[in-house]
Amino acid sequence: MNLESQVLEAFAPDGALARAAEHFVPRSGQTDMALAVARAIEGAYPLVVEASTGVGKTFSYLVPALLSGERVLLSTATKALQDQLFGRDLPALVQALGVPVSTALLKGRGSYLCLHRMEMARHDASFPERSSLRALAKVEEWARGTDTGDLAELPGLDERSPVIPWVTSTRENCLGSPCPRFRACHVNQARRQALAADVVVINHHLFFADLAVRESGVAELLPTVRIAIFDEAHQLNETGVQFLGENLSTGQLLDFARDMLGTGLQLARGLLDWQALAGATEHAARDLRLSVGKVYPGSKLRWTDAAPEGLAPKEWAEALVAVSTTLAGACEALDTVSDIAPDFARLHERATELEARARAFGLAPEPGGVRWLDVGTQLRLVESPLDIAQAIQARVFTDDKAAAKTWIFTSATLGDDAQLSWFTQPCGLTEATVLQVGSPFDYARQAALYIPRNFPKPGDPTHTAAVAASAADWARRLGGRTMVLTTTLRALRAIGEALQASFAGSADIEVLVQGEMPKRTLIERFRQADSHGGRGCVLVASASFWEGIDVPGDALQLVIIDKLPFPPPNDPMVEARSRLLESAGKSAFNDYFLPEAAVALKQGAGRLIRRETDQGVLVVCDSRLASMGYGKRLLRALPPMQRLASEEQLNERLDLLTRTCTRAPQPT
Ligand code: SF4
Repeated sequence: MNLESQVLEAFAPDGALARAAEHFVPRSGQTDMALAVARAIEGAYPLVVEASTGVGKTFSYLVPALLSGERVLLSTATKALQDQLFGRDLPALVQALGVPVSTALLKGRGSYLCLHRMEMARHDASFPERSSLRALAKVEEWARGTDTGDLAELPGLDERSPVIPWVTSTRENCLGSPCPRFRACHVNQARRQALAADVVVINHHLFFADLAVRESGVAELLPTVRIAIFDEAHQLNETGVQFLGENLSTGQLLDFARDMLGTGLQLARGLLDWQALAGATEHAARDLRLSVGKVYPGSKLRWTDAAPEGLAPKEWAEALVAVSTTLAGACEALDTVSDIAPDFARLHERATELEARARAFGLAPEPGGVRWLDVGTQLRLVESPLDIAQAIQARVFTDDKAAAKTWIFTSATLGDDAQLSWFTQPCGLTEATVLQVGSPFDYARQAALYIPRNFPKPGDPTHTAAVAASAADWARRLGGRTMVLTTTLRALRAIGEALQASFAGSADIEVLVQGEMPKRTLIERFRQADSHGGRGCVLVASASFWEGIDVPGDALQLVIIDKLPFPPPNDPMVEARSRLLESAGKSAFNDYFLPEAAVALKQGAGRLIRRETDQGVLVVCDSRLASMGYGKRLLRALPPMQRLASEEQLNERLDLLTRTCTRAPQPT
């Protein structure tokens, strides 16, 4: 039986999926996508699938991949999604289909305990204060029993804990095969398991990190797999450009200085003046930071000439040369002790790499890329390609028949035209087969869209306050169950503060603001607000909350978007991409800004309806969506929701949602 027939059988009403999962209901979109994936596997060609929310795309790619009997590499956007795929979807399907496949999970090295660094940390004089010592003791205790060394399995360890850099490795500080703990090393163990498994789950960061430096094991893995699947593929380009470029940060210099000092004092005390060597590196890093002077934290300075914009070229060049000279001095010194321990040989390599990068940033930028300076507490010097087209094309459209494999790219949002150009162009996949699978949801019945009239224009200084005031009214009417998505961090803070002030002391509504607690906790709290019959919740968030957040049911029934999510025009990457389009005779607005806004809007709106039974309202507080000609294109990108024409209609709809909700709000 060919793969398509096997897939059809699995998805049939009496097939393997229906027999194994009580709630499985055959859906035509899901089966169509699965058949398209099966054909791509049989024909070994690349396939791009936009599968709208509710299609159940995970089953659509996993079933044919598992039934094919081929080796599979599966990549998703985040570690949390990796855990979900590996821990839930994959084992459920392997069991349902009864296929004898072995699976493995491979994360970046920063996710695993480094036994060598953990042992060094306890004796390191520069190890931070008491609370970190307690956290270190907890890690040491857990280290005795863990099989995987995956820190996500250590209960109660905050992902932002200061102890993590002390007990994990980086490519820079890992000793590799000369390491005394190499045999027991969790990073190596995870890689060995991945190399032996039939299905390996990785993430996009790891995939690109490996294309760039070929060190995490994916480069070895890739030639041996026949099917590579990228879920949440809309994040590929932005993730890829981060890794395919070069960067140097003052943080990396300070980490190097700290590691050199700690290792020197532990393993070669008295042989060199470690304090002076580390001090000189720290000093050079600090001087580089100081040469930038007072710049608003979070700024990105364009860097098209000798120095980043607004900086004195001479001072900047001197500070950068001082960094290379200091690192060259560290190299020389480390060379004299390299034979004592592998730690020094690795520090030497690290100093050499940092020095080469500092020197490269002193030369003119490479053509075809973009260079800028990120300014925060630390400085980050960045040079990046504008897209990942070349890197992907070189692998997907190879002439090497032995390397032929099927590449599947999928996500709920990949563009606003039939060719999915927003995704396929920067990823070099314009020649790939493209499929769009519509949502099974009845949006006209389940959801409504409202664009307030007589609202301040988005550029008006009163706009943000007006969003906050309206959001407070609507959320009060609905008893919470509201998510406010902002386009800027400034609006996030302003709207968050205004809503917290509006509901201060409220027994009915709690306001959660992004940044107050870890993202996962925030979402869990928002989701749970409804189920405990307690206070309703309003969540104010920006950036990463526009996508990937799944809050089904009554906990979220109103999504408010403050402005149309156009990319920030003075971001150096956005500028460089616009310039490139204009120079090719295209319109940066039509071919870049609009598709970006359409995709982001679609993602934001996608938070509202997550199940066939969900009901809700989307409010976009930006009159341009209704008044400008380009608004029509953006509206077409949204699901076909009912349009509400007035505030009265909105209020009626909110009241209806309140009446039908399982947890009605308390009178205020
Ligand atoms: S090989 Fe690298 S990651 Fe593994 S224990 Fe040694 S230093 Fe740590």
